[in-house]
Amino acid sequence: HGDPRIKAISDAIRVVPHFPKKGIMFQDITTLLLDQKAFRYTVDIFVDRYRDKKISVVAGVEARGFIFGPPIALAIGAKFVPLRKPKKLPGEVISESYVLEYGTDCLEMHVGAVQPGERVLIVDDLVATGGTLSAAIRLLERARAEVVECACVIGLPFVKGNWKLNGVPLYVLVEPR
Ligand code: AMP
Repeated sequence: HGDPRIKAISDAIRVVPHFPKKGIMFQDITTLLLDQKAFRYTVDIFVDRYRDKKISVVAGVEARGFIFGPPIALAIGAKFVPLRKPKKLPGEVISESYVLEYGTDCLEMHVGAVQPGERVLIVDDLVATGGTLSAAIRLLERARAEVVECACVIGLPFVKGNWKLNGVPLYVLVEPR
């Protein structure tokens, strides 16, 4: 990157070893939210990248995609669509399951939230295996939307060499070593 803002963002993320279980290096973005400058830089970098891409929908992945998605959506003039965990949305939904280390999880989206052909940006805080983002992409593509890119604050090296998800480009700001 060579952008000094990236270092400020990286420095503001707290790494908590062995949370929520042994062996996991948890990337805690709540400390980034406490640092006004670093939080603003994060939003600004995404807004600069996506403002002229004719994106009409920002889809945020529950829960931390709900923190970074809305300020980006407002700034680029897009609507915000929450992709939620099961049984949270009251209307008619479509669902996509995905595999976790132990068991499976699922994301849901309201039918009618996105129209066919709309250009969508998917936002989450972090990508590890890409399983969550892949489920998000499948949801949007079932609604016949066009997923322009997935954007995350943090990309774990796990996905190295696999910076594309179902052919959709992935953009991350910080890659912890
Ligand atoms: P994945 O589906 O494997 O790409 O995992 C990404 C999802 O799990 C994101 O919603 C993250 O918030 C969460 N996640 C996975 N690993 C970590 C980690 N080391 N620190 C913080 N969150 C994580």
